[in-house]
Amino acid sequence: MGRKHQGNVGFIGLGTMGREMARNLLEAGFTVHVFDVVPAAIDALVALGATAADSPAGAARDADIAITMLPDTPQVEDVVLGPAGFLANPPRGRLVVDMSTISPVAVQKMAATLQAAGIQLLDAPVSGGPVGAKNATLSIMAGGEAEAFSRARPFFEAMGTTIHHVGASGAGQAVKLCNQLICGINIQAICEALALGRALGVELGQLRQVLLGGSAASWMLDKLGPAMIAGDDSAGFRIDLMLKDLRLVQEQALALSVPLPGTALVTSQYLDARAHGEGGNGNQALFRVYDRMANQPRSSSDA
Ligand code: NAD
Repeated sequence: MGRKHQGNVGFIGLGTMGREMARNLLEAGFTVHVFDVVPAAIDALVALGATAADSPAGAARDADIAITMLPDTPQVEDVVLGPAGFLANPPRGRLVVDMSTISPVAVQKMAATLQAAGIQLLDAPVSGGPVGAKNATLSIMAGGEAEAFSRARPFFEAMGTTIHHVGASGAGQAVKLCNQLICGINIQAICEALALGRALGVELGQLRQVLLGGSAASWMLDKLGPAMIAGDDSAGFRIDLMLKDLRLVQEQALALSVPLPGTALVTSQYLDARAHGEGGNGNQALFRVYDRMANQPRSSSDA
């Protein structure tokens, strides 16, 4: 396997993505101190060789780099700016990297606050889903100072394969929001193709295979198509998180007067899913909205 690294990481947020990313840091040889508000999430990483911390500050105390992988902006602000957070208790290496998807404006404000205290902040959101997190093949898009990016790079290389410094503070989140807009609308396009194909009597597995060989191919069709065809709702990237990202996209679009009608439409469809109690489903389960519109209800066993 690859060479073993030295270095100390504080890792906060051990959910679907964070637990795999922290595990890959451990496997690369880094010392990893972990914290999550869910004790069982900490225990699972300790079983793999991580050290438990009782607060974000505790996880970061001896860290060259403190990494957050949390749901949304308020949780990141709490961990970075709160009383048990990194502003009050800087990591030894004075480098914080947020890899969650959050507001680019909030990132810039936090970066300025931390910079005044001599702490660097990178925004480095990821794409590639739980599979990319597990296989350490994430795409990582980072915003912030180039020197901070260079220091973070060996840690990024333990978690991802496509690693880019895309600009100043907030630029990573800007790229990620463009990514999410495409993901949302792409899933919608696949739902529509499957709805039409089903009505026309086409075998949907074969439809997917053929489309994957042509210009309609996409990551979503490849990775999520089988679950969509099978009626599998299981969560990887939850609808609630997709709605959080589409909200962030639309906040920016409104602030900058950029019309995004496709994003507005698919957001309403995800809201329809949430209104039906499906916010905890994986984002591929947008197909349930199309099933309802076509009066073609399916259970998960209809595969
Ligand atoms: P998740 O909800 O599974 O995990 C979040 C973790 O953070 C949970 O373990 C939770 O207990 C913990 N947490 C919440 N508040 C906390 C706090 N104040 N202090 C410490 N821990 C806290 O979410 P996820 O799917 O791992 O996603 C994390 C981030 O990555 C989100 O911003 C998401 O949009 C983004 N993302 C997710 C995916 C995906 O496919 N799941 C892909 C790319 C990016």
